[in-house]
Amino acid sequence: MLTIDEARYLNTLPGADFDANTEPLGCDFEVHEPEVRHAACAQMQYIEPGKIVLWWLLWGEDGHRELRIEQGCRKTVVDETCLLIKGHPHGCNQDIFSTRR
Ligand SMILES: [Zn+2]
Ligand SMILES: [Zn+2]
Repeated sequence: MLTIDEARYLNTLPGADFDANTEPLGCDFEVHEPEVRHAACAQMQYIEPGKIVLWWLLWGEDGHRELRIEQGCRKTVVDETCLLIKGHPHGCNQDIFSTRR
């Protein structure tokens, strides 16, 4: 989950898409190997029309924790774009959560 400071920061970004909060974030991946870090999209930032910056919270079983900008996966599954982090484990055919717009 995000710290209060991180959530506040993400919410003050210009073009922030939704209210980030300090609720626990679930991993976006259905299943993955233990060495793969968990990832959850913490904020989407619209910087100009058609351009989105994705902020990801990454964490691992080893206690690693990181909030950083990373590309999203661009693959389209059926008629929806995969919304997982780029380079995510397994295919794009796992749970596709709908955009929070
Ligand atoms: Zn995970
Ligand atoms: Zn994908």
